[in-house]
Amino acid sequence: MTASAPRYMARFRCIAEACEDTCCAGLTVPISESRWSLLREKVAGSPDEARVAALITPNPEGATGQQAGILGKRADGHCAFLDEAKLCSLQRRYGEAVLPDGCSVFPRVLTRWGTQVEMAGSLACPETARLCLLAEDALVREPVPEEQALRPQVARQVAAGDDAWTAHADTVREAMLRLLNRREVPFAARLYALGRMALGLGDFYFPGTTAFALAASHASASETEEASATAAREPMAGPALAASEASRHANASEAVDASAFATREPLADFALDANESRVETAGSRLVRILREYESVDTLASLHAQLDALELPGGPWAGICGAVLRSREAAVSSPRFLSLVRDVHASYGGSNANPDEAWRLHATRRAALESLHGERVHQYFLHHALNHVLRHPFTEAPSLLNAVFLLVLRASVVRWVLLGHPAVVALLEAPGTPVSTLDAAAVEAFQVVAKHVEQAPTFLDFARGLAGEGPETFARLLILVKGL
Ligand code: SF4
Repeated sequence: MTASAPRYMARFRCIAEACEDTCCAGLTVPISESRWSLLREKVAGSPDEARVAALITPNPEGATGQQAGILGKRADGHCAFLDEAKLCSLQRRYGEAVLPDGCSVFPRVLTRWGTQVEMAGSLACPETARLCLLAEDALVREPVPEEQALRPQVARQVAAGDDAWTAHADTVREAMLRLLNRREVPFAARLYALGRMALGLGDFYFPGTTAFALAASHASASETEEASATAAREPMAGPALAASEASRHANASEAVDASAFATREPLADFALDANESRVETAGSRLVRILREYESVDTLASLHAQLDALELPGGPWAGICGAVLRSREAAVSSPRFLSLVRDVHASYGGSNANPDEAWRLHATRRAALESLHGERVHQYFLHHALNHVLRHPFTEAPSLLNAVFLLVLRASVVRWVLLGHPAVVALLEAPGTPVSTLDAAAVEAFQVVAKHVEQAPTFLDFARGLAGEGPETFARLLILVKGL
């Protein structure tokens, strides 16, 4: 059996004591009932028996099963079982089998698409972030021995294929990956196209859709298979926010006429005549829409539309700043807090006027583009491609919501990167080597991945900000224009 993984994950090895942000630092580590029981068995009669009994306690929230116990932490926020060499003392003495699933698998993220196990990486690990962002071929997918994908039994099964939403998921995901790789238009235009594609699919392709079942007599599986074949897999190149705050930023979308986008077809050429639409099945409609976004003309047209759209950047800056302030209040990691303080300061303070902060950001963005535009493009492309692999869109309430979350995460990282003190200094000293930018990027992407992207409060904020239906697309435009 093989699994598949992007090349950077095949290259990954934990750097242990050399790691600048050991994975258990600042995080709560749960252990399952079965793994806890195995550990107790292994340490019985040894000096570790008392340590395990004292340092692993029942989940205070009363959870059982996978989250039955919680590993204790030292005063510095690291796991109580981490030794002086920053290595796990339990693994060293009793082997990998006793580790909680999170410790064993991290930073691997395992997903089972049908019968195939896929391994992606969490950029919350600094070494993973380095390998993913900095190597040009990092996202080329290839087979890896299944034993490299540790504990495949814990892989999420996201595409069982027993409903239309998951049955077509792989086809849709491949189309997303191809679109993200279309270098003939800027990265923001590709994200805009992704949003338009999701909007076009949204009225018949969603969790629980019956559109495909109703049309089963017309749709043939071969239609989607054909789409997959014609577009053969290409290597990929290259404390909670107050509800009022969330809605205040969401209201920024009033600047965009959502209904104008929601009620017309993405492009005039895409409109079907009445006869065609009567006979078109959901399966063939899905294939047709995905193909439309393969077209050079479609992308060029969408790029021109996005360019012509004028939106203020202040709301985008306001959203990014609010996300950081909210996480600052909840996270104890000195590494995260120090960077966030620097980022706020670079934009004029944590409560800076969003329009002024945006002006600073836009000036820096243009300067960095002219110095290292290709390098920065690689970071964000790799982050986006990895996001699509690591976060199956089938877990979102809609494809458009999944795209929205990707663009929001990219926005927050962009804000942090352009506020990073090393980047601000680099713009004033253009001869600075690109390795300085790389190091700042690794830190920015990693701390955001570790302390923002997966936080339940951030995900709640993202859901509130996205809203529902047509308004989601209008709000997506604000984020895309900020990128
Ligand atoms: S964060 Fe990554 S490199 Fe660092 S200790 Fe954990 S797995 Fe190893």
